Amino acid sequence: MSVLIYAESDNGSLRKGAFEVASYAKGVADALGTTVTALTVNVSDVSELGNYGVSKVLQVSDNALTKFQAKAYSSIIEQAAKAEQSKVVVLSSSTNSKYAAPLLGVALNAAVVSNVVSLPKSTSPFVVERTAFTNKAFQETQINSDVKVICVSNNSYGLKETSVSIEAEAFSPSVNGGSLEVVSIDKATDKVSIADAEVVVSGGRGLKGPENWHLIEDLATVLGAATACSKPVSDMGWRPHSEHVGQTGKPVATNLYIAVGISGAIQHLAGINASKVKVVVNTDPEAPFFKAADYGVVGDAFEVVPQLIEKLKAFKSTN
Ligand SMILES: Cc1cc2nc3c(=O)[nH]c(=O)nc-3n(C[C@H](O)[C@H](O)[C@H](O)COP(=O)(O)OP(=O)(O)OC[C@H]3O[C@@H](n4cnc5c(N)ncnc54)[C@H](O)[C@@H]3O)c2cc1C
Repeated sequence: MSVLIYAESDNGSLRKGAFEVASYAKGVADALGTTVTALTVNVSDVSELGNYGVSKVLQVSDNALTKFQAKAYSSIIEQAAKAEQSKVVVLSSSTNSKYAAPLLGVALNAAVVSNVVSLPKSTSPFVVERTAFTNKAFQETQINSDVKVICVSNNSYGLKETSVSIEAEAFSPSVNGGSLEVVSIDKATDKVSIADAEVVVSGGRGLKGPENWHLIEDLATVLGAATACSKPVSDMGWRPHSEHVGQTGKPVATNLYIAVGISGAIQHLAGINASKVKVVVNTDPEAPFFKAADYGVVGDAFEVVPQLIEKLKAFKSTN
């Protein structure tokens, strides 16, 4: 009857989202008076999950699962949920989880609730809060099905350390990938991905051209951040489409989002609204982004950003 999580990994290492999902599941498990079990795939060191409240790990090792396939992965999560008799299954809001969740919902005859941002307000009835209308509204959703699949919005709950003793056991579900096979994956970059980033530095048309992107990259490097951009910037080929954020691009829900030379059009804001702290650098004091910003600098990116980089480097060298 434990709460089950699927702890996502990348090349054998657990992703940050796995620890947020574990933290959230621990909160749910405490409310239900049970424990958290994690399912991992091809991860050898799972011990860190114990720092986030996971007391049992079902470890799957199977070369057929090296690359994510929604059908195969939803099937092994289903088998783990049945083995654990879990009534609540918690996933992240990564692209992979978004593919797997509906299939899992069908397999377990469970309601699936996406974009969940906080622990259940009550467990009987089971009521969770989720974001709606591209993060412009919050919605309370009552889940009436016996089994529930919850997808936690990235960076919404955060990491909560709760150390528990952890035991791992091998789990060997039957693997059926169906008719699809992922043949290869070409990563656009080996830098911090937007999905895993705590901080994102994003550039817009105010940067004037791709030759000036070192400003965004240097600021991102000093902050350990991922880089992103507005839609026109990727449309013009200044940056890859994988960096385009907004309504028609990737959603961003980071702790810190720094927007440089971006006007703050509604379609851009729709994708970054869920970020906790927004900092804007723009020459135009009337730029709409300032209304959404927590901190704003009215100034020229070509003057402000190099100074910001210098100050951050100086701060880091003494702290
Ligand atoms: C259906 C639809 C979907 C869309 N989806 C998206 C989306 O997902 N994501 C997205 O981003 N857009 C999206 N757009 C486009 C959106 O409406 C805006 O056109 C776009 O976000 C503007 O990009 P920008 O802010 O980089 O450029 P601009 O609007 O040209 O703004 C550039 C900003 O830079 C400032 N600036 C200029 N020089 C400097 C300087 N030296 N230093 C500092 N600041 C400077 C200017 O004051 C200005 O505010 C969509 C549009 C439509 C119609």
